[in-house]
Amino acid sequence: MRLVAKHSQVGYQTPGERPGCRNCKHFDQVRHDSPIIAPRQACTLHSIEVTSGGICPSHTLQRRPGEAELSFLARQRDLLEHQAQELQPRLVDARVFPKVGELYEGKPMTVAKHRRLTVEQLIANEEASGDPELVAIAARRRQWAGISPQHGECAA
Ligand code: SF4
Repeated sequence: MRLVAKHSQVGYQTPGERPGCRNCKHFDQVRHDSPIIAPRQACTLHSIEVTSGGICPSHTLQRRPGEAELSFLARQRDLLEHQAQELQPRLVDARVFPKVGELYEGKPMTVAKHRRLTVEQLIANEEASGDPELVAIAARRRQWAGISPQHGECAA
């Protein structure tokens, strides 16, 4: 086992990773240009001077660089997944027809019957899609195949 893998497996934390003011979101450090003035370390929540290794019960882990971007990408992924589900075709007719020559409802499937059933199935699913373009195509298919128009549709 690699040393790094073992460290993460046992939950090892370096001093910098351990909870403390240094990685608290309320920690504020002001550095001065002067080499003789020490940086000022303060807590913006309690308005007190703190040291980086100190801690109090209000410690709130600061977000690491890139964490906000990762959570944004995760939200985008969830949104796309949701949209993809919405776009899934809603099949009202998902029958699987036997091949030509095989029995269908007690009689051998013919080429003409297979074609007609397939077209009817296609039309039913296009009409159920709710997409105006597909519904218009379905109406044309009905016309070409000589299938009576849907209720309310013009036969012309
Ligand atoms: S004193 Fe508490 S709240 Fe303030 S920086 Fe330190 S851990 Fe965070």
